[in-house]
Amino acid sequence: MKANIAVIKGDGIGPEIVDEAMKVLRAIEKKYNHQFDFTQILMGGASIDACGVPLSDEALAIAKKSDAVLLGSIGGDTNTSPWYQLPPELRPEAGLLKIRKELGLFANLRPAYLYEQLADACPIKPELIKGGFDMMIMRELTGGLYFGQRSTEMEDGQLVARDAMSYSESEIRRIAYRAFDIARLRRNKVTSVDKANVLDTSRLWRKVVNEVAVEYPDVSLEHMLVDNCAMQLVKNPQQFDVILTENMFGDILSDEASMITGSIGMLSSASLREDKFGMYEPSHGSAPDIASMDKANPIATILSAAMMLRYTFNLVDEAAAIEKAIYDVLEQGYRTVDIFAPGCQQVGCRQMGDLIVENLGD
Ligand code: NAD
Repeated sequence: MKANIAVIKGDGIGPEIVDEAMKVLRAIEKKYNHQFDFTQILMGGASIDACGVPLSDEALAIAKKSDAVLLGSIGGDTNTSPWYQLPPELRPEAGLLKIRKELGLFANLRPAYLYEQLADACPIKPELIKGGFDMMIMRELTGGLYFGQRSTEMEDGQLVARDAMSYSESEIRRIAYRAFDIARLRRNKVTSVDKANVLDTSRLWRKVVNEVAVEYPDVSLEHMLVDNCAMQLVKNPQQFDVILTENMFGDILSDEASMITGSIGMLSSASLREDKFGMYEPSHGSAPDIASMDKANPIATILSAAMMLRYTFNLVDEAAAIEKAIYDVLEQGYRTVDIFAPGCQQVGCRQMGDLIVENLGD
């Protein structure tokens, strides 16, 4: 197949980790006879330095015309970088918010997968995670409390602040369809998380998710209250396949889920819209403390590229081949410094990319 991929290397370790992901995609291209056309665009600090804005109209237009976007990470040291002396709308993160909004990315996917080779980094007792865990958190990204009306007003001699949370049926329905579709690519189970014992938005959420579920008789659905889900994630994470939830609950639960994997350099993510288009990026930031030192772990970005193959291009075998190559490299004992354990062999960012390509085979 032929695909146009917009590539945003970004700041800090961004260029290093994206180079390794592109190296792996080139190997897939050759092995499976595809054509990936990469167009590089600027966003974040690199764009501020080059064009004075964190995302130019030209860069956005290229992203919109592409089939998918592969992103490293953006931003600098928030204490020392001059980018953070600029007004908020000109700072690196403004580029990220703008591209998400302009591309209409309403569904955020964050897998939390425990590699057995890295189980020591998991803060949960070994007896609770024997056999690992493998879940996908699906978070609604453009509605709810973070996008509702807000105000802070003086009332009866004191300040009163309000944040409104609202969801429409259509906002819930489109992400529910996505979650059920993705469950079908996995283990056919959706856990929908809400606070239906208190919130109207949650009661509507539950009603719409139940309606969508009727169309997926092969996928099992359970509802779980968010406070219980927060507990279950550390008590029995193996029970989860796809967790579907609204924006704020998803923000909190996805961070909790990534914490229990124990390794930030391994966590990929995708932001999707209704069609096949998506933006794929690691869950971590630009790690300016280790930039240009060949120390970064490129695996989260390489796994994000695998998600792109699976969810945008339907290249399921190719995605699985990348995931298997990563598993094999870990099995062979190679580790970047962030996941290093005694007895393993430490490698840099570039060598980790080379090893994954080698394990893919020709
Ligand atoms: P961070 O995720 O960049 O780093 C936190 C710690 O994890 C650091 O010690 C870093 O060295 C380490 N780390 C992160 N990724 C790693 C990797 N792949 N390999 C090895 N070690 C890794 O978080 P931060 O320091 O809070 O933020 C730095 C910058 O990144 C800030 O400007 C922040 O705004 C930005 N940021 C961007 C995104 C994004 O682009 N989506 C997300 C989060 C943070």
